Amino acid sequence: MARVTVESLRREYDAGSVVAVNDLDLEIEDGEFVTVVGPSGCGKTTTLRMLAGLEKPTSGRIEIGDDDVTDVHAKNRNVAMVFQNYALYPHKTVFENMAFGLRMSTDLSESEREQRVVDTAEMMDIEDLLEDRPDELSGGQKQRVALGRAIVREPDLFLFDEPLSNLDAKLRTSMRAEIQRLQNELGITAVYVTHDQHEAMTMGDRIVILDGGELQQQGKPTEVYENPVNEFVAGFVGSPSMNFVDVAVEPTGDRLRLTGPDGGFEFELSGAYVGRHREELDSSRYTLGIRPENVRIADGGGSNTITAAIDVVEPVGSDNFLHLDVSNEFIARVDSDVGLEPGDRVTLTFDESDVHLFDPETGRNVL
Ligand code: ADP
Ligand code: MG
Repeated sequence: MARVTVESLRREYDAGSVVAVNDLDLEIEDGEFVTVVGPSGCGKTTTLRMLAGLEKPTSGRIEIGDDDVTDVHAKNRNVAMVFQNYALYPHKTVFENMAFGLRMSTDLSESEREQRVVDTAEMMDIEDLLEDRPDELSGGQKQRVALGRAIVREPDLFLFDEPLSNLDAKLRTSMRAEIQRLQNELGITAVYVTHDQHEAMTMGDRIVILDGGELQQQGKPTEVYENPVNEFVAGFVGSPSMNFVDVAVEPTGDRLRLTGPDGGFEFELSGAYVGRHREELDSSRYTLGIRPENVRIADGGGSNTITAAIDVVEPVGSDNFLHLDVSNEFIARVDSDVGLEPGDRVTLTFDESDVHLFDPETGRNVL
């Protein structure tokens, strides 16, 4: 396995009119499982293809292990890629599909190669399928074979491009667990691309968030969840999305008063919390961000509460999502025992430590 360094990696298309990847810097530690997530078209596949050597960077550098591989051909990189559509050879058996990549390893004898395929097939629980052809396999089996074919080569780096997108929800969950098991057992270094923030958050040691070809934030999933650097990341990570409300911000003594749309609510942030950022809060309008799970029903009215009508009650197991009439879409996640109905008015509150404030111009999180 190997560490990976990406420096100012850039890929333009159409004579520079499309910047698919915009000067990306990444460090991936040996044995680390990094998930890359972002909306469709944000540059995930292009990044992976450059790591694999299938796409030439417009500029920038890629190191795998101690080698600068920027100009090294794909077949000399010892990198394995697993795709959404499995990319198995249709006319070869499972055994042949898995053995094919090994043929390039000239230092293995025929019988050593055979043994490696059989051992890997056992690890992937596909040893009974070795004589089958891809069209005889289910989607889940095909993806196991694709994984086995990658693993058998013992690559320095695994690249996954939305490998579970074609599987149904139940199979996706079990394959996720399977990939995590393999990661733990084999200590693989992997870059795993997905558009599914839940998958990225649950699988990654570290999560990298892209938008428009640009790195937005990277870090441990909990860090990114708790301290999103901007409104895009805040809205992208977590489900349902963070609530956003336009507020007017006004300093009052050592506090900061936030006033919601049409004066609908007031919320005060204490000086200790705001002090270190006071000088930055020079514009009077911000976007307040609060996650649905951080909103709770208040004991009574009073300061730091919002009162709103319930539009929809959406049951999710032991909780309900209350869709509230606060301006934009605003959701509170509350215990379903509370027994509220559409049309009811509720008074809600939240802790100041859970509040985010975003600059409406730049999107930057200023708290
Ligand atoms: P993702 O995998 O995140 O959906 P891609 O890396 O496939 O995104 O694409 C990033 C951007 O680059 C998109 O705007 C896409 O249209 C563009 N792009 C990708 N490949 C090509 C290409 N071969 N020619 C022109 N534009 C491309
Ligand atoms: Mg893609």
